[in-house]
Amino acid sequence: MKAILLYNTQAGKGRVARHLDKIVEIFRAANIDICPKIIDFTKNPFDGEEDTELAVVCGGDGTINFVVNKMQEKGLNVTLGIIPSGTANDFAGAIGCKRNILRAAKQIAEGSERRVDCGVVNGTYFVNVMSFGVLTTTSQQATDKEKHLMGKLAYIRIGTRDLMTMHPIPISVKVNEEVIDTNAAMLLVFNGRSAGRFNLAPESKIDDGVFDLLILDYASKAKTVFSMMHYLMGGKDAKVRYIRSNKIELNCPLHERTDIDGQPGPDFPLNIECLPGHIKIRI
Ligand SMILES: [Mg+2]
Repeated sequence: MKAILLYNTQAGKGRVARHLDKIVEIFRAANIDICPKIIDFTKNPFDGEEDTELAVVCGGDGTINFVVNKMQEKGLNVTLGIIPSGTANDFAGAIGCKRNILRAAKQIAEGSERRVDCGVVNGTYFVNVMSFGVLTTTSQQATDKEKHLMGKLAYIRIGTRDLMTMHPIPISVKVNEEVIDTNAAMLLVFNGRSAGRFNLAPESKIDDGVFDLLILDYASKAKTVFSMMHYLMGGKDAKVRYIRSNKIELNCPLHERTDIDGQPGPDFPLNIECLPGHIKIRI
């Protein structure tokens, strides 16, 4: 089997680079000759690797998103393995990866293939979540330097600023033959089940062919924060809508920043579709 190990020197705070030999050895023990390759985000990692059968990605959701989109650009359908080494690792959590780097490597090396769903919004693929509104774009607003120096504090700083500037977002949502017009504080389309490790869609399944859509309606700032906390603590809140669908159309007259897997997403209008079993995973 031709396999590559895609990593960057910063992955897992440098742990991946330090344990490279051990990771390669784990795969060799399972008769997989894996070749490490540093990811250059300005290039397609599959250039010259078009015959790869397994690509093991070390990184968080943003890195997986990058690899999936680059794979699609080339029309490839390579099996992916995930070694969680980002800040939140929500997709890795949704597919059940081990958190420890070496254990995750062993899990892939000795694992088998399964298929999971993938989302596509206006031609761009996403693996975990597409979202907009308050607190949904904190990851993309934190610079890499900030993330490495300050870790979670960077998110708290941006999150706080985000809460202060929270506003109603007028949206029109076409879903399941129904049109919902509302003022939202936040909206999340889950393929996975968590965002920033917050388990917002605990019932979501990654292989059922549908998204779990969560809309938090805007009231006042204080009421909206209360609804958010209430929902996070497991309460049913009248301000939260929970819908399942494989297709969602979204429109908004404002210039709202959107997010896909922690990266900047496309502008409105958004056409979002769930592609059942589109991604091959080895786990
Ligand atoms: Mg699903």
